[in-house]
Amino acid sequence: LAKNDGRNTYRFFDQELKNVMAERAALEQDMRTGLDTGEFYLVYQPQVDLHGQVIGAEALCRWQHPQKGLVSPAVFIDIAEKSGFIRQLGHWVLEQACKTLRGWRADARLSRLSLAVNVSAQQFHHPDFVPQTLALMASSAIDAERLELELTESIFAQDVEQIAEKMQTLKALGVCFSLDDFGTGYSSLNYLKRLPLDQLKIDQSFVRDVIADSFDASIVAAMISLGESLGLKVLAEGVETPEQLEFLRSRGCRLFQGYLFAKPLSEADFLASLRQGPAGAGAQA
Ligand code: C2E
Ligand code: MG
Ligand code: MG
Ligand code: MG
Repeated sequence: LAKNDGRNTYRFFDQELKNVMAERAALEQDMRTGLDTGEFYLVYQPQVDLHGQVIGAEALCRWQHPQKGLVSPAVFIDIAEKSGFIRQLGHWVLEQACKTLRGWRADARLSRLSLAVNVSAQQFHHPDFVPQTLALMASSAIDAERLELELTESIFAQDVEQIAEKMQTLKALGVCFSLDDFGTGYSSLNYLKRLPLDQLKIDQSFVRDVIADSFDASIVAAMISLGESLGLKVLAEGVETPEQLEFLRSRGCRLFQGYLFAKPLSEADFLASLRQGPAGAGAQA
């Protein structure tokens, strides 16, 4: 766009912005009705240990829009967060995850699997979050030890004592906590020290270039030893290649999630994949 066309350019962007806003408002409305009409569902991405053995899964939310098809979580989670709808959606996700865990409970092979659920900062900070979650745990009759909640560094905007207290209430039941997308937000070592976390999830943006970029390689190695020395489990996200896996293992990482092992799957496909034994390159070790 030419410089001497400044006014038209402005008008163009103004119109674009209005379109984007209208589109987001429409999606927000669609989301509210879509949650009631069954357009949302969960998929399950396996998490594996050093032997490629599946130890659990992360539940990820999907939205099948009647006209637009599958909408990316990057789009709808963002809209849900900015509109406050995330609290309702997040609770629904937690409810579904508990139903799934309840279903696994009777099967000896499945009852030891953990299920991780993403909890957004806004959802976590709301005064109803802990009581609602406690009520859900009580009514769904699951083994609380099997449920893992993933928090991101965006929760750190609030008072650390208050966050720790909420976490403790749920941990008393056996619920575990992971710090998701570790390294991408406002991490402070003070938070790592003062929050009762169980696991760090190294963000996929660091894992992606771990072979080509020596800076990322150093960061990842440091994250693994930091987690280890703080007594936390460390899981690497977004593992796509055997070379990345080998690097991570050589630096002491023991838990993995990524396309190398499996993409997020329907529950049926996830359960079928368990019957096939060790997954990905881990099987050859
Ligand atoms: P996340 O929690 O960090 O989840 C991991 C994302 O990485 C997922 O994207 C997953 O499909 C993707 N992924 C897994 N392995 C690989 C890999 O090897 N390579 C690459 N390139 N990507 C991989 P997805 O499902 O699109 O979700 C994106 C984000 O949306 C999630 O990131 C999470 O922050 C958010 N999200 C999804 N479901 C929920 C939910 O129920 N509640 C909340 N609050 N957030 C959710
Ligand atoms: Mg996550
Ligand atoms: Mg993540
Ligand atoms: Mg992520």
